[in-house]
Parts: sequence; structure tokens; C-alpha cells
Amino acid sequence: MSKGSKAIIIGSGPAGLAAALRLKEQNRNLQCALYELRKQPTTIGGAIGIMPNGMRLLARLGLYGKLTAHGSSAQVLTVHSVRGQVLAERPLVGDALQKTGFGYLRIKRTALMEVLLEAVKRENIPIHYDKRIISIKEENDQVHAIFSDGTVDSADFMLGCDGIHSAVRTLYVDPDRVPEYTGMAGLGGIVPLSESARATMKSLGVTLTEDGVFITAPCTARHDEVLWGLSREVPLPESGDVKDGWEVRRDEEVEHFKETATNLLKNGDGEWANLLKEIIESTEVVNFYPVHKLPPGRWARGRVLLLGDAAHAMPPHAGQGVSMALEDIFILARVLQSRGETTSFEAAFERVEDIRKPRIADVAARSVENGKARGKTTPLGLWAKEMVIWTSAQLSWFSGIFNFGIDEKHLQYDVDQEEI
Ligand SMILES: Cc1cc2nc3c(=O)[nH]c(=O)nc-3n(C[C@H](O)[C@H](O)[C@H](O)COP(=O)(O)OP(=O)(O)OC[C@H]3O[C@@H](n4cnc5c(N)ncnc54)[C@H](O)[C@@H]3O)c2cc1C
Repeated sequence: MSKGSKAIIIGSGPAGLAAALRLKEQNRNLQCALYELRKQPTTIGGAIGIMPNGMRLLARLGLYGKLTAHGSSAQVLTVHSVRGQVLAERPLVGDALQKTGFGYLRIKRTALMEVLLEAVKRENIPIHYDKRIISIKEENDQVHAIFSDGTVDSADFMLGCDGIHSAVRTLYVDPDRVPEYTGMAGLGGIVPLSESARATMKSLGVTLTEDGVFITAPCTARHDEVLWGLSREVPLPESGDVKDGWEVRRDEEVEHFKETATNLLKNGDGEWANLLKEIIESTEVVNFYPVHKLPPGRWARGRVLLLGDAAHAMPPHAGQGVSMALEDIFILARVLQSRGETTSFEAAFERVEDIRKPRIADVAARSVENGKARGKTTPLGLWAKEMVIWTSAQLSWFSGIFNFGIDEKHLQYDVDQEEI
């Protein structure tokens, strides 16, 4: 990057904010301008798990202490049968904590965004809200962003960090690439956890049912709030994979969520199942998310590069979405820093794409594979699944057989070791 260059970043989710921070850290003369569609900082809610490979990068951004002060650092995964039997218990990230010094963090999205936004503010990076990009042009060694309110901004390069339905992708980089529904949807919420419940629900809990997987995870440092999520197969709305159809389905799912969840736990007995039922009963706000993924495709065109979900949204079942966005950003920063004056942005961005694509394909395949464990099954199928987990846990080779996304090589990976 030459002195005094400028970047336009479209989207101020985790990818956009972290990209601004990392690029600015590497080049104090870079000017960044963030443009966000929403009127103010908001998120889809819930709480996300950040894996060791992502936590390592958040530490390099100087945010580790602030994030761990907000989120839960519980490091155990417990798999339960709906009848309350503990089928397996193991370190959530295997040996990654010992080997890398970084573990797993479950944090409310609002807290993650607060920490990132605070850091962006400290760096005086402007965020322009309520801005809808309608056109992108390249002219005279600049890229121009044209917004629906008639304003235009120009820069040396542009980053599309605007999520799975990216306008930067559909307007300019790869217009034909559209998200695909995976057949799975999530339902869930965050509820306060009583003092007595905290002792039982102290780490990531996975409960197997015939109709999907029920997850519970404390998501604050004090463990006084828990995220619950039900991940299961949900058919496409009759009108297809369109917004209106999903809105009708969302209303139905939200209206009946207590019935759906309680029905899943109908065979549940004992302290664990009763606690799950209590959590559902006390839920006031519930979210419903159809899970989409992006087919592979182009990330870069000219002076424009897609990052994070805009480039490669994957199902959340490997818990790697935020970490993948962070890894993209760290590679981009290094590629730009080492770029000679004669290397075009186009060539630099293609290099980022080449470095990142094999890893993204690997992690995306893992997340799809993990999703299959959440599919519908018969009573016999559920019993067989429970037996496999229990037996594997007894034999201590649990992690290789049925591992809910725990893949040590992905967790220990350090993107800064990648040759650029
Ligand atoms: C149910 C669910 C659970 C998940 N759980 C996890 C988890 O446990 N761990 C994990 O790592 N990941 C998880 N993910 C994935 C994770 O949320 C994403 O990978 C991550 O948010 C990607 O960040 P991003 O900044 O690329 O995109 P986003 O978070 O989607 O942010 C995009 C931003 O761009 C804005 N925007 C959109 N369009 C425009 C536009 N036209 N102009 C300007 N701005 C625009 C949006 O308003 C938003 O602020 C989960 C996802 C879902 C749906």
C-alpha cells in the first residue's frame, strides 16, 4: 500500500470492523471509511462461539482481555442423552488450548460488536450508517461507490464485508452467485440462568434428540446467561427460498417454539431435561434462522475484494464463521504490506483468494458434515448415535468419530505462518 491510500469498506459486521483495525494497524497512513446499511449498530442477536484460531487473531488485535471479560471461557463439551445420561465429556477444543495458549470463547454478539466498535472509535475510523450502495465503478485508478442517497465516495480499493447477501458481490464481483438453503434451521434465545442452574449448566452442552440437536452454552463471563439453540431440519417454505416465504415460516416457528422444543424433550427426564424445559419456558425473545451457505466462486474483481461471509458464508456448525473472516483479513493485510509498487490491487487480491480458498473449502466441508449430525432420526437411529458416542468416549477415541466440529488441525492453525 502506498502512503496515503484509502479503503472503502462496505459492511460493519465483525469482518468490516476487524479489517479496518488490522489494515490501519499495518499502515497508519491508510484512510478507511466504513459504510453500513443499518441505521445504527445492531446484530441478529444470539451468542457466538469463537475458536482458538480466531481468538489468537483477536489477541493480535489487542482485544483478547476485553472479549474474555465479557464472554464465557468454559472449555468443556458435554454430550447428553435426552433422558439425562452424560454420553461423553471432553475438552471442547482438544489439545488446542495447551498447544496454542488460546481456547474457546462464547460471547453475546452485542458484546463482540461493542468491543470491536469501541476499538474502531479509538482509531477514529468513521462509520457511515444508513448507506445503501447501488453501484460500483472503476475509473482513473480509483474505485467509486455510489449510494442510494446520491453520495459518492472514491478510494484505491474496496472491501465487500457485507455478509452473505452481499451487495458488493451481486452488484460487481460475482453477480450470479447466490446463497443456497441447507435444509437446516436454528431456533434459539438467551435467558438468565439462576445461581443453582449455573452449577449444572457450566459449559457447552449438546443434547441429542430425534429431531435435531439442542445446544446450551453460557455466554457471559459470570455464566448468568445461557444461549440455547435448537438446530434441526426444516423444509423450504411452499413459496420457495424467498424472503416472504421465510417471513411466514419465521412467524410460525416463533409462535410455536415452546411447543416444538418441549415436544423434542418429551422423553426427557431428570435434572438435565427439566432444566432445558425451564429454559425454554422462561424464553421471552426467540430467533429463527434458516441456514444458508454460499457456493464457491469469485472473491475479487479489479480493485474490489470480498471478505468474510460475503465471500464464503458457510453453515455455522463448525463455529468458524468469525474466525474465517479474521483469517482472511490477516492474510490481506500481509499481502498488501508486502505488495511492491508495481503489483496491482487486482494481482494482490487474487493472491489472497488463492491462499485462502483451500482452507475455506476444508472448513466449509467440515461445517456441512457437522450439520448432518443434526438431522432427523428414528428412535433406533438416536439410540445408535448415542451408543456410538458413549462407546467412543469410553474408548477415548471419541474425538475422531463424532466430534461436533472439533478438528485439531483447524483449531491450531496460525494464519500468520502461511506463506504469502
Ligand atoms: C445462527 C448462526 C449462528 C452462528 N454461530 C457462529 C458461531 O458460533 N461462531 C462463529 O464464528 N460464527 C457463527 N456464525 C457465523 C457468523 O455469524 C458469521 O460468519 C459472521 O457474522 C460473518 O461476519 P461478516 O462481517 O462477514 O458478516 P455479517 O456479520 O453478516 O456482517 C455484515 C454487515 O454488513 C451489513 N450490510 C449488509 N448489506 C449491506 C450493504 N448493502 N451495504 C452496507 N452494509 C451492509 C450488515 O448490516 C452487517 O452489519 C453463525 C451464524 C448464524 C446465522
